[in-house]
Amino acid sequence: MVYATDNVFAQILEGKMPAHKVFENDQTLAFLDIMPVSVGHTLIIPKAEAENIFELKNELGSEVFITTKKVAHAIRASLEPTGLILTQLNGSDAGQTVFHYHMHIIPVYKKTPTTMHSKKVEDFEKLAKTAKLIKQAIVDTETD
Ligand code: 5GP
Repeated sequence: MVYATDNVFAQILEGKMPAHKVFENDQTLAFLDIMPVSVGHTLIIPKAEAENIFELKNELGSEVFITTKKVAHAIRASLEPTGLILTQLNGSDAGQTVFHYHMHIIPVYKKTPTTMHSKKVEDFEKLAKTAKLIKQAIVDTETD
């Protein structure tokens, strides 16, 4: 499999495309999904060229999960969802649409979203407000 370096998440990593970032460290980046299926729908990506789980090094996979936990705690604290879905698609047959590995955090508010893709670009001001709330709730304390 050849990693397509022009995919949107690679462009976000390179700073060529904007994103509502909520957390970043040396190995990972977390930012809001531009077409959220619920408020606070967040994506966590590794800072390395990996299209899917089969190309992801163990160490980076662990880093993605650690960031996922950190952001999940912040989403729970700031947005108070009643539940939270973690999901991750590999390959177009599985529904993957952006070919840079990513974990979805989908907050649930009483009712589970019926789709993985809303296909509706969210208002940028609304995304900015949500990102600010999550960002403020990110804590450096261990979430282990
Ligand atoms: P996948 O279907 O590959 O698991 O998920 C890709 C996700 O990326 C979708 O939920 C889609 O809404 C989101 N997405 C697509 N293009 C962009 C973009 O330019 N910026 C951001 N933040 N999210 C995007």
